Amino acid sequence: MKPAFSHFYKRTPAERLAILAKTVGLSDDEQQTLATRAADGDAPLLIENYLTAYQLPEGVAVNFRVNQHDFIVPMVTEEPSVIAAASNGAKQLAQAGGITATLRSRLLTGQVVLSDVKVFASIDDWVALHQSELLEVAAQAHPSIVKRGGGPRKVSVRDLGEGFVSVDLTADVKAAMGANMMNTMLEAIAQLIQNKLHHTTLFSILSNAGDQSLATAEVSIPVTQLGTDTATAQQTATRIAQASRIAQLDPMRAVTHNKGIMNGVDAVVIAMGNDWRTIESAAHAFAVQNGQYRGLSQWRVDGDQLVGSLTLPLPVGTVGGATKVLPLVTINQKIAQVDSPETLMKLIVAVGLVQNFAALKALVTTGIQAGHMKMQLRSLAMSVGATPEQVPTLVKLLQQQADPNEAVAKRLLNQLKY
Ligand code: NDP
Repeated sequence: MKPAFSHFYKRTPAERLAILAKTVGLSDDEQQTLATRAADGDAPLLIENYLTAYQLPEGVAVNFRVNQHDFIVPMVTEEPSVIAAASNGAKQLAQAGGITATLRSRLLTGQVVLSDVKVFASIDDWVALHQSELLEVAAQAHPSIVKRGGGPRKVSVRDLGEGFVSVDLTADVKAAMGANMMNTMLEAIAQLIQNKLHHTTLFSILSNAGDQSLATAEVSIPVTQLGTDTATAQQTATRIAQASRIAQLDPMRAVTHNKGIMNGVDAVVIAMGNDWRTIESAAHAFAVQNGQYRGLSQWRVDGDQLVGSLTLPLPVGTVGGATKVLPLVTINQKIAQVDSPETLMKLIVAVGLVQNFAALKALVTTGIQAGHMKMQLRSLAMSVGATPEQVPTLVKLLQQQADPNEAVAKRLLNQLKY
């Protein structure tokens, strides 16, 4: 490593920028871009070696009706068509009476893992006998969450095989996502296990499985709503159900089915300042819970209704982590009327179901490209350097091309300029 990078983390952002500029040869304009995009406030303190603020577009999806309430949903994404599809899909589901969203529970689990265990029963018995002591030690490690009405709830034990044992702590983390408070409680439990059982622990950390924080969205759409005439509507409903079934049978399709769901889910999770790696990991683990990777949502025709449902693990929070540090999150919570993690979970799972409905309907009717193409052409126009004023004209010209690729876009833009 070059000496300039020694103690890089101790430098100010401006000093880091100067070192980088010299090292990789950033132009004055490039340096200016990095400098002017740097954030105010505490956001730079969230990470290490802060340089600037990487911006993603934020839009709002409209027309959401969940549990008889109307919602406007902030979404942060760089992908064209996601918000348009969400708004359009939400409108159709609202016409059908809206989405019903429910929660099964909202708890977080973490693990203290022991290695080289000779007799599993010895750990199992000890934990059963010392349940209240373990819970008390965990509670004392983070008393403020207990004051808020949450805290540790249960300790259980699993034999992982090969001498590994997991001591699992389940806790109510109230409005937080809870990673840090869980880790603090786990380390206290690990210490107790080491002191009392004289058994060394391998590691202590929360589980991102999120299977104690499941949210479900359901909707029932009159089949007649899906087409201009009865036959088309019936065909669309049947084809959506078939497409959903394929995601249960074929993992290759299930991945793409679920990616479409996560298009909406991630965009809301990011807008709400939450840890989207957690939600991604949890969702895909949940998709494979029965041994085969499957679609997370399911659609079926039931009489004269198309019925859809989606269940997702959603360990999200409305406080803690980055939620109060990133200035847009508080505003986004206000836009979405999100005042609790429960509301946020319901809204996110509803967005996932809407996004899936919109994608499947487009797929089995007009095909995905028809709706996407105009938005993709906007991205193409911008990527070749069209100004905001030039974009609409260039998009119109690109729509008339058989193969609207980058070279074509550049040529057309040049023609527009001269
Ligand atoms: P914090 O460490 O920020 O803890 C939550 C904070 O919110 C506490 O300070 C708590 O106060 C405060 N708070 C205020 N009101 C409430 C309330 N009603 N209910 C609960 N807490 C309240 O965040 P988390 O523990 O939630 O951890 C989330 C962060 O951890 C994320 O940034 C995530 O990226 C990161 N992380 C994720 C990991 C993962 O594997 N997914 C691993 C490690 C970290 P008080 O202290 O007074 O109780």
